[in-house]
Formats: sequence, C-alpha cells, structure tokens
Amino acid sequence: MKLVSFGEYEKERVGVVVGDEIVDLASADASLPTTVLGILEAHALPAVAAGVDSGKGCRIAASSVRLGAPITRPSKIVCVGLNYRDHAEETNSPLPENPLLFSKASSAVIGPNDDVVLPADSQEVDYEVELAVVIGRRAKDVPLELAYDFIAGYAVANDVSARDVQFRQKQWHQGKSYDTFFPFGPYLVTRDEIADPNTLHVQFDLNGRTLQNSNTDNLIFNVPTLVSHISRIMTLYPGDVISTGTPAGVGVFRNPKILLKPGDDMVTTIDGLGTLRNRVK
Ligand code: ZN
Repeated sequence: MKLVSFGEYEKERVGVVVGDEIVDLASADASLPTTVLGILEAHALPAVAAGVDSGKGCRIAASSVRLGAPITRPSKIVCVGLNYRDHAEETNSPLPENPLLFSKASSAVIGPNDDVVLPADSQEVDYEVELAVVIGRRAKDVPLELAYDFIAGYAVANDVSARDVQFRQKQWHQGKSYDTFFPFGPYLVTRDEIADPNTLHVQFDLNGRTLQNSNTDNLIFNVPTLVSHISRIMTLYPGDVISTGTPAGVGVFRNPKILLKPGDDMVTTIDGLGTLRNRVK
C-alpha cells in the first residue's frame, strides 16, 4: 500500500493511493487512526487494507490535493553520513568503519511538493537524494536477521544541507535542520511492496539536469544493517525515519559548485517509491 497524508499543512488527512486517486480513510472506516503515524502505532495496516477493500471510502483525484509528508513529525530523523563509497570519495573522506550518524530536526519535514526556503544565513545550500526507511514498531537491540520486521516501509527524502554552516561547525545539526530542509514522501510505500530496498535506483535532477544517479546497491551499510545498528544505540519508535545517506554528485563538491538558488526546480526520485518535486524559494 501507499499511505499518504493529504490536505492543508498541519491539517492533513490520511489516505491510501489507488491508481491516480486517494481513498480518504476516515470515510472508509471512521474508527481508523487519522494519521499515518497513528496507523503505525496502532499496528492498523490490516484494518487499513480492509477499509480500502470495503469500497466505502471517498475517492479524490490525487492531483487535486496538496500532499503532506507521510509522517509529518517523526519523533526523530536519524541520518547516515558518507554511506555511499563514491560520495565518501568525492568528499576526500576515508570510508567509515561504522555508520556515521547525525540528527536532523523533525521540524524540517515538508511535503513532497512543498517549497524549500533558503535561509538568510547560508550562501551554500545543497541537495541530497536519499532512501528513507520508516520504522513500524518499537525497535531496541534488533538482531540483523530480524531487522526487516521492524520496518513499516520506505519513502524518498531530500536531505537539504546548508554546507557553509555544516562545515563551519563541528556539529552538523544546525546546517541540516533549517525549516523546510527535509522534503519527504510522496507516500509511505509499505515494506511488502519493495522486494529489496538495497537495489533501488536513486536520482536527483536540478532544472532538468541529472546531478545524482546511483543505486542503493552502492550503500556501504545497507538497510537491515542500519536498522540493527541504530537500534542498539537508541530505541526507534514507529514513524521514526532513517535517512540512509546520499550518493556522489552533490553540488558543493562539484567544480564549479552547484548551489541552490531561488526558482530552482528539484526532482528527487527513487524507483518504486515515487518523486518529490520541490521549488526553491
Ligand atoms: Zn544526507
């Protein structure tokens, strides 16, 4: 299933994408939780599927509504740095021996088609296509072989980054956490629909030019390894997001640099998970 938040910012409703339409879940079954996060917390995916199958839900053209991020405020976003070999090389960094983790404020989350706003105190804002893993159930000390059981599904993310701020400070939190710096969606694709998250084509285009073009089979630490590893450090909760890192081709390490500017069109795509389309303001 493709679970989606739709409607006005901070007043989103929850639905399921069926073809070009969204089934409004509240109209299908009023007893269902009213957010994707609530559905995960209540382990209600089977009831959601039954609600869609009942045929009772109102159907809305997906193109007629604003989409929000599937999880509008995750309790945490754990990002992984330097997790593609080619990206580590372009930054002249040694390959990490363990996942390099950093945090991004969950208030940075925006919908899949919302605008990214450049902050006044950065002159070097950059893009990063990333596979986002969404946790489905409380995960602590998860053995590697059970890691998939704790994943609800996957989505596309753009880990927008203020590089001048990031590199000026030893901590990356500020440079990664400006409001609007985490376009996320367009929906949560449940785990059963993705046979292997470690073989997905990932791509980022800026104003029609492809700047990142890779595959999650280039991840240094793959999806189950990350879930297991992170769960041994911090308890993961339903709706928490692991942003698995970006491949080569980011703007700041290009010669000349490519930095985001007002009016830019960003298109961020992962096969099977959909596309984010964000304008820069
Ligand atoms: Zn990143």
